[in-house]
Amino acid sequence: MTVGRTGYFTHRECWKHEMGPGHPECPARLDAIEDRLLVTGVADALERIQAPEASLADIELAHDRRHVDALRGMSERLAEELLAGGPAHAQVDPDTSINTHTWGAALRAAGAALAATDAVMAGDLENAFCCVRPPGHHATRDKAMGFCFFNNVAIAARYALKRHGLRRVAVVDFDVHHGNGTEDILSGDDRVLMVGIFQHPFYPYSGDRDPAPNMLNVPVAAYTRGMDIRELIEMLWIPRLEAFKPEMIFVSAGFDGHRDDDMGQLGLTEQDYTWITQRVKDVARRHAKGRIVSCLEGGYMMDALARSVEAHVRVLADL
Ligand SMILES: [Zn+2]
Repeated sequence: MTVGRTGYFTHRECWKHEMGPGHPECPARLDAIEDRLLVTGVADALERIQAPEASLADIELAHDRRHVDALRGMSERLAEELLAGGPAHAQVDPDTSINTHTWGAALRAAGAALAATDAVMAGDLENAFCCVRPPGHHATRDKAMGFCFFNNVAIAARYALKRHGLRRVAVVDFDVHHGNGTEDILSGDDRVLMVGIFQHPFYPYSGDRDPAPNMLNVPVAAYTRGMDIRELIEMLWIPRLEAFKPEMIFVSAGFDGHRDDDMGQLGLTEQDYTWITQRVKDVARRHAKGRIVSCLEGGYMMDALARSVEAHVRVLADL
């Protein structure tokens, strides 16, 4: 595989969204990843592409217009109040707030996933990693929550079906938290197979059963080790993915299940992320012409996050 076949989509606006002092979902996450990719030379093998803004019509493939309008309205009010000496943040839920850059960053994060989908479908790239924030997998059809505003992966999955005419796409989610938002949006859509593995019981306290036949949730107890997670993936995910024969695979790539990440209590390591990515890539190569679009979700311990993203991207780029 030649250099430049893996895209790296990001935008400076994704650094400007922040949710207040000490918040774990912070711009430094992206710095940690970029430093690591640079110092290891991995960045040299990637095609760096500026993420465009997603159009509202594309965002509405996965979200209610009311949700989109509410976030925009909140953002505009915050900007006006800030000019009048008001606070820099407005609260959306107990863990989630916006600043005046959140709207723009959320459009770029979704836009990264859409542009990556276009490039992969055009054959300009084999696969892509979207190094973006805010993350997306907790955002439901009509609600922002859990650090998420727009569901980047769900939007891109719907976009691949609608705009590129694909008939089957898979969503793979290995964040330590259940991707409740993606499930809310895609549950019951038989053109999609979503497979997830996550700590349970744990935020957002869902995923203990499958709401529709196109959802495969694998809840695991706190302190489950990497080798056990690999075994569950091999036994449960892989046969379903192979049988489904997706034409493209979207990844909710959260790295907060790392052993060193205090946000959760799973025992994954870089080697496990390498293994998981390789197995997903095997499926993609067999059924989907290698097409993978991976979007950053969680991961809050800077060193572990950076090493884990490096491991994930090395597999995508055959390094
Ligand atoms: Zn998470």
